[in-house]
Order: sequence, then C-alpha cells, then structure tokens
Amino acid sequence: MKRAQFLRYVGATLSATALAPVITACGGGGDTASETPVGTVATPVTAAVSTPVSTQPPVATTLSAEEIAGLKFMREEEKLAHDVYVALFDVWGANVFSQIALSETTHTETILALLTKYGIADPAAGKAPGVFEDVALQTLYNTLITMGQPSLIEALKVGALIEETDIHDINVRKAITDEADILQVYTSLLCGSRNHLRAFNGQLLNQGVTYVPQVITQAEWDAIANAASESCGG
Ligand code: MN
Ligand code: MN
Repeated sequence: MKRAQFLRYVGATLSATALAPVITACGGGGDTASETPVGTVATPVTAAVSTPVSTQPPVATTLSAEEIAGLKFMREEEKLAHDVYVALFDVWGANVFSQIALSETTHTETILALLTKYGIADPAAGKAPGVFEDVALQTLYNTLITMGQPSLIEALKVGALIEETDIHDINVRKAITDEADILQVYTSLLCGSRNHLRAFNGQLLNQGVTYVPQVITQAEWDAIANAASESCGG
C-alpha cells in the first residue's frame, strides 16, 4: 500500500511534467497588456534620484507555465521535507532530523523568494505544518509520516527517500528552465540535498543498514553517497 501510494505520487509528478508543454502551447497572445503578467519580472530601473521613470517598456523575463509550476511544486516539496523532519524529530529525538529541518527552512524560503520576485502566488502561504496545496505532496507527506513511525531506522529511511526524491524532482525542473536565477537556486538546493542524503546514509550505516534507492539509480546513489561533504554556498 505504501509502495503503491508512492508510485502514484511519482506517476502524478511525471504526468504533470509531460502535460505541461501542451498547456504552454495553448498560451501565447499579444504583448499589449499594460500590467505586468504573473511570472514576469521587470528589469530594475536604475534611474538616478529625481529622474522621471522611463516611458520605455521594461525588458521583461517571462517564465513558462512549466517553470512556474516547477517553482510552486518545489516550494511545497521543500516544505514537505522540513515538516516531515520536524515531525520525525518529535518522535525519535535524533538530531539529524532537527539539523536538516533547519536547512530545509532555508530551501523553501529560497524558493519563496523566487515566487515573490516573479509575482507567483505562494502555494504554502498560511499553510500549517503537514498541510499542502498539491494533492500528490499531501498524500506523500501522510505516507512518509506513517512510514517513519515503527522505528528510528524506518524514520532514517524516510529521510533517505525524501532526499533522493528531492534530487530527482529538482533535476526534472532544472532541465526545463533557462533562467540563471532559478538554475542557481536549484543547483544550490541539489548540493544541500546531496549533503542530506550523505547524512541519512551515514546514520543508516551506523545502524547496520544499507539503504536501497527507490527513485534515483543505484549508480547515482553510490556516486553521491561515496563523495565527500560539499560546501553549498549561500
Ligand atoms: Mn531541501
Ligand atoms: Mn534535504
């Protein structure tokens, strides 16, 4: 059952990704809107004090529907990681959960900054811990919390599963954007996720458990797990 739920989640994620280009293709339209559309950020005006605001239209960066959906999804997936780790820390008291939860707060807030920059509604606004707008993420959260209850080892496996899922999902969204600021954030989040993966893997090894990856390939897992901890920058 747990496995089936998780696979439905993966299926839903892939379906949404596959459908996005179709949705995007229906867009288009004129450039005559007087207001900045959602997902558009104007190049800052660098005029000196007392200089009138230019009447020239600003050079705008418009995000695709896929890019917008990707940011909204990752905002909530980083919140999911945080919320699960806080909940599992409450159950097991293992510092690895509280320490990584702090990092996940930074991750979800970094995505929020991009949502704000591009004028995209925040799906996590006003949401309590463990509550998500994305139905698949809500189901995943509920499943992961259940999976983490039987033992500390199962909880650590949940951590490993979250991190390999995060790495997969960020890579999918990184592949469909060409915006430098978004790429930079995704690159930084991937770096953090690799460190988190190594932390959970190390804890599992200390418990005598060899984790088997469920989302990324064994080769991808081994390459990350066997590498040294990284400095991920700001
Ligand atoms: Mn993260
Ligand atoms: Mn993480």
